[in-house]
Amino acid sequence: MNNFDYVILGAGLGGLSAAACLTRQGYRVAVLEQHYLPGGCCHTFSYGDYSFCADVHYIYQCGEGQAVKQFLNYIDRDVPFNSLNPDCIDRVITPEVDFRIPLDWEKFRDRLNATFPEETKGINFYCDEIKQLHQELKQLTHKVHWYDLEWSDWFSLPKYWHLFSRRNWTLQDLYDHARLSPNLQDLLAGQSGDYGLPPNEIALITHTSLVWDYSEGAYYPQHHFKHLVDSIVSAITEGGGVVKFSNPVQHIEHFSDAHPTILA
Ligand SMILES: Cc1cc2nc3c(=O)[nH]c(=O)nc-3n(C[C@H](O)[C@H](O)[C@H](O)COP(=O)(O)OP(=O)(O)OC[C@H]3O[C@@H](n4cnc5c(N)ncnc54)[C@H](O)[C@@H]3O)c2cc1C
Repeated sequence: MNNFDYVILGAGLGGLSAAACLTRQGYRVAVLEQHYLPGGCCHTFSYGDYSFCADVHYIYQCGEGQAVKQFLNYIDRDVPFNSLNPDCIDRVITPEVDFRIPLDWEKFRDRLNATFPEETKGINFYCDEIKQLHQELKQLTHKVHWYDLEWSDWFSLPKYWHLFSRRNWTLQDLYDHARLSPNLQDLLAGQSGDYGLPPNEIALITHTSLVWDYSEGAYYPQHHFKHLVDSIVSAITEGGGVVKFSNPVQHIEHFSDAHPTILA
């Protein structure tokens, strides 16, 4: 009864996704979570009549054939998504500007150029760099060790020169090379809230994946993020696995001063 092939610590999206894939492959998996709810940063909590998702407010790669859809198909769950407003997936308000980030990288570039016409050169540098890095990332093979490379692969290495030469750049390095004004840097750092880090601590490659993938599609689950998390949990439990949480009472007592209504 209590024999498991795998024990996973943490029921965040990472732990749950790994557990659901292992379950799908026929393994018996136990997920142990220190919190009293599943989802990690993507968990949903209730407050009065309302449900709130703790952190996550949109995700990408949810279109047909894309990574999230492929994963959900693989674990046999149907989670429909709505696209965010294509004209404004993020709204960044700084003391100088109120800017709507649209889907589509070229639309984004045009809107930046229209808002900051005096910085066209820097904006195009920034947009071209991200575009080039994204294209090279997309072509990258899974073989990353030189001893795994075949002869034919060596000839394709120049294809990744840009990526290789920028591998240690932070987002701030890109701002500096593009000579962007502080106002524009503020605006572009708006999406950095997703990492909770300042531009000089964000790998440019991470930033590239984030802003490019969101420019291709930003989604919200039609039935709330709770539906996404619960669907993954159900794939684990219906496949014979377990997802265990710590005692909710301890948490409620711990938070009782701050949220007395929760006890009621
Ligand atoms: C403020 C904020 C906003 C974000 N917004 C977005 C967004 O809009 N879109 C997006 O795609 N991403 C967003 N992210 C990022 C996203 O939330 C994370 O990338 C993702 O949720 C990470 O999942 P994870 O499973 O790796 O980690 P986590 O979600 O951190 O889950 C880890 C889990 O492990 C548990 N745990 C840790 N240690 C132990 C232990 N020893 N024993 C048992 N359990 C343990 C934790 O309680 C937690 O539940 C945001 C992140 C933050 C912080």
